[in-house]
Amino acid sequence: MKSLAEIADALQGYDPQSLPVEQALAFLRALVEPIVDTEDIALADGLDRILAGDLISPLNVPPHDNSAMDGYAFDGAQIQAGKDISLRVVGTAWAGRAWRGQAGPGQCVRIMTGAIMPAGLDTVLPQELAQLSPDGQQLTVPADRLAAGDNRRLQGEDLHLGETALRSGTRMGPAQLGLAASLGLERLQVLRRPLVACFSTGDEILSAGQAPREGAVYDSNRYSLIGLLQRLGCSVLDLGLVPDDPARLQATFEHAASQADAIISSGGVSVGEADHTRAMLQRLGEMVFWRVAMRPGRPLATGRIAHLARSRPALVFGLPGNPVAVMVTFLAFVRPALLQLMGCSAPPNPLLQARSLETLRKKPGRTEYQRGWVSRNAQGQLQVRTTGNQGSGVLSSMTQANGLIVLHHQQATVQAGELVDVMMFDGVI
Ligand code: AMP
Ligand code: MG
Repeated sequence: MKSLAEIADALQGYDPQSLPVEQALAFLRALVEPIVDTEDIALADGLDRILAGDLISPLNVPPHDNSAMDGYAFDGAQIQAGKDISLRVVGTAWAGRAWRGQAGPGQCVRIMTGAIMPAGLDTVLPQELAQLSPDGQQLTVPADRLAAGDNRRLQGEDLHLGETALRSGTRMGPAQLGLAASLGLERLQVLRRPLVACFSTGDEILSAGQAPREGAVYDSNRYSLIGLLQRLGCSVLDLGLVPDDPARLQATFEHAASQADAIISSGGVSVGEADHTRAMLQRLGEMVFWRVAMRPGRPLATGRIAHLARSRPALVFGLPGNPVAVMVTFLAFVRPALLQLMGCSAPPNPLLQARSLETLRKKPGRTEYQRGWVSRNAQGQLQVRTTGNQGSGVLSSMTQANGLIVLHHQQATVQAGELVDVMMFDGVI
């Protein structure tokens, strides 16, 4: 395992008092070692789990050529431009019950969606286009409505036997679960979920349910973090609220490191007299501290703490205290690092571009995240406005947002009407 100092060497030449977001991310990529322990689980429990190996298709999907429509199957070789075709109905093919006969030229078979295509027949006339004689025995295929092979699904067109259906590192979403099920699989080999401990710090912070008191605010960070972690598919160890007391903080970090793959704290990483988190991290493990060139969320303590009870050290993220800064630093740094820890190979969701409805003041030299609401204008183009007070403690503007406007490191003031990048929340948080 590389030391943090070795990893930080990769950042040489950069100022830890004002570290660009990209550099902090590069450091985290080098720091995080993915979980390798696997679990065998029921497919139905697979949502958001990460595949531990490639899924190889044990069969063709679909297993046979079959009809994509309810209608009449016939041999498409009979199709000629400008000519109707007259065919005798000689049987019926049902989904799950094949028609075993032989149909030749001048004949057709009534067929249902999903039924195996009878031998020698390759084309299906949809029922809506069928003209039948009153006794239902004679079919007219109208001219110029079909080409040979229409409305037939080919054996293996979804997956071929032996093909890699899903790659190791895939995060299982609804489509991936359905695909695995289509292979007849009942169980999945997945990576163990990481256990992430989280706690809030601060003498002025109240737990939900406590009576209000002067100068105190309720703990919101832990609830935002628990939601963010659950969305990601992590198991959460909620360690509650810790006062600004070094002994209590030490005990909490030690307990967390004995249990968890990662530890997330909020508050106490600034330069105030009661900010003990950095010193504690330094004492118990290895730490790098940055003032990341970003807003909100400048201070960020990152590191790891080893524990005798565990073979790997716990990753640690000491996030700032302000509630929006917590969410933004989570999305910018913690989320990608945890996905890597989880063994997830998916690239991050692409940023969208939307036209800013306002002028957004910005100086080059730091990344800024503004809470925004993306909608469509009358022409159908994406547009974005900010959602009110952008203070780093103002959560209500976060609740009114559906994404974060990302103003990149080198970007300067954006004029109304210019395009900006947006990280959409849906699918992310
Ligand atoms: P700190 O980084 O500890 O100085 O905290 C910065 C600001 O965030 C202060 O105004 C704190 O009261 C506030 N804050 C810290 N932790 C929380 C929390 N868990 N919930 C709500 N606000 C918090
Ligand atoms: Mg504090």
